[in-house]
Amino acid sequence: MQTKHLIQIDDVKKSEIEEIFALAEYYFQKNKKKVEQKHRLKPFTQINVFFENSTRTLASFELAGKKLGGIVQDIRIATSSIHKGETLIDTALTLNAMRPDLLVVRHSSSGAVNLLSEKVNCSVLNAGDGSHEHPTQALLDFLTIQHRKKEKEGLIIAICGDISHSRVARSNINLLCKFNNQVRLIGPSNLLPYSFKDMGLEIYNSMEDGVKDADVIMMLRLQKERMKGGFIPSRREYFNRFGLDNQKLSLAKDDAIVMHPGPMNRGVEIDGIIADDLNRSVIQEQVEIGVALRMAVLHLLVDRKN
Ligand code: ASP
Repeated sequence: MQTKHLIQIDDVKKSEIEEIFALAEYYFQKNKKKVEQKHRLKPFTQINVFFENSTRTLASFELAGKKLGGIVQDIRIATSSIHKGETLIDTALTLNAMRPDLLVVRHSSSGAVNLLSEKVNCSVLNAGDGSHEHPTQALLDFLTIQHRKKEKEGLIIAICGDISHSRVARSNINLLCKFNNQVRLIGPSNLLPYSFKDMGLEIYNSMEDGVKDADVIMMLRLQKERMKGGFIPSRREYFNRFGLDNQKLSLAKDDAIVMHPGPMNRGVEIDGIIADDLNRSVIQEQVEIGVALRMAVLHLLVDRKN
């Protein structure tokens, strides 16, 4: 992998994505067998700097780094000195002086991770910046799709819900389109930027129309923390129109899979019965594959020349 940082999907070429997936597959099998890893990697130090809350992404990066044999330090900024008035740049310079090999950064502002990457010497991995991108989430989503569908092109993939505020949607759109898939965006018009039409994506304001014959249905949470004002009349009405239930799912292909990046809100964007249906829902698989995928990305960034 040539890129020093992974801030957005466009940082990696198609061939590098294949390289990431091949290594992630190797780690996925290893993790399943629970055998001791033979560390081929040089010693490395990884600092996870989370300016915004996280459960699964932080745990996933922490586990991935430790499984690779790295020294892994978590910094949850809620308990750190940013609240004492320190700027993002000063935090970056302080962390840089500790000479890490990798910084894994989450921030509530779009562009903040990129800014930080310009101030440090080590590799920076974006673990989600505002509504901009969440590249490792998209990579693990796509690898999960390939596991179940045995294809990476020619699929109809419906991304549903709060597209406007979702970094997961943005990264997935950029990735899935690189591989010649038909991406449909579904949501209420005030949560769905029509600018995506220019990228050749299909836009739907009706779930019934949008999920018809889909191979993959990716549900998104309403990102309330990024909404200023009321975007939906009520949770109940939202569920009726845009929540995935059995009736709407029956319009997709018979073997369609259901995804969700988590955390999910049962009864808002997804019916709990579908989330728990192991024939349809790959939500737990996404989490498992996520660890292996992040191991692969960390490995390739640590291993890169110069
Ligand atoms: N966990 C994902 C993210 O960090 C999705 C979400 O929060 O709804 O963007």
